Amino acid sequence: MSGSGSFQRVAIIGLGLLGGSLGLALREHLPAVATTGYDRDPATRQRAAERGLVGAVCETAAEAVAEADLVVLCVPVGAMAEAARDIAHALPAGAIISDVGSSKRSVQKALAEALPDHICIPAHPVAGTEQSGPEAGFASLFEGRWCILTPPEGAPAEATDRLSSLWQTLGAKVEIMDADHHDLVLAVTSHIPHLIAYTIVGTASDMEDVTRSEVIKYSAGGFRDFTRIAASDPVMWRDVFLNNRDAVLEMLGRFTEDLTALQRAIRSGDGETLHDLFSRTRAIRRSIIDEGQDDASPDFGRDH
Ligand code: NAP
Repeated sequence: MSGSGSFQRVAIIGLGLLGGSLGLALREHLPAVATTGYDRDPATRQRAAERGLVGAVCETAAEAVAEADLVVLCVPVGAMAEAARDIAHALPAGAIISDVGSSKRSVQKALAEALPDHICIPAHPVAGTEQSGPEAGFASLFEGRWCILTPPEGAPAEATDRLSSLWQTLGAKVEIMDADHHDLVLAVTSHIPHLIAYTIVGTASDMEDVTRSEVIKYSAGGFRDFTRIAASDPVMWRDVFLNNRDAVLEMLGRFTEDLTALQRAIRSGDGETLHDLFSRTRAIRRSIIDEGQDDASPDFGRDH
């Protein structure tokens, strides 16, 4: 199978961070693959054309997908159903549909309902930044990162293989997973950490006895690392929590119990419990570095 996974024409719907990065990565790694793109925002379409995020920026979603053999929806998860309905009438018969959404069960359902006659293989490249929009994309976003495919039961293995091969050519490592399991894993590794960051930054900004200027001035104590995550796109994250509700609530229940246990340890002066946990968490950070998922430099390599 060729490096493109045999795709010749890829259409990208939504030209923000993920859509733009996908277009740029395709251009870099597979220049022979023709790319088209559409975004509902005219200003985004214009900027996408100026940056060359895809070969041709189209004025409608239907036009963008008209000759595609792969369509990738790169819109917020709450917009997947609408984006899929918009292209339903214009899709070529054999086209494969995929996406990059951060939750998978609801997207799988939305695609199956809107496009019952097409092969839909949902995917989630676990790669991103806190930036969004047409300026944010870059070609190397997926390099060395995992891309999780969640083919529905009965999906042709050949279609999954083609998509898998494409993501690998763009530098990603591919894993196949059941959609519910994906949603549970990502609730722990991504969604709850975002919720905690949103909470801690919100709490700090609501405090009356610590001034806002003090929060900003002393942020290097740890707070500023939460603010990076808490600066993530509000629409994208609203949709993630509304669409992965069950898994997030389940994990939040466990997290709340663990937090209460820590509260108890602090109140009762139980240093051993605190030390044991902090030693285990330090080991997790080391494993992430060992697996090449982050840099070992102190303070994330910031220049002091
Ligand atoms: P983004 O930068 O905000 O880009 C999304 C683009 O889609 C926006 O330009 C938006 O336009 C457009 N859009 C919304 N609804 C549309 C529709 N029905 N038809 C056409 N265009 C539409 O967001 P992103 O960060 O690329 O996220 C895209 C997807 O990737 C989301 O599903 C997200 O969960 C997933 N993801 C994100 C990350 C990350 O770190 N950001 C990582 C992995 C996966 P408007 O601005 O007008 O709404």
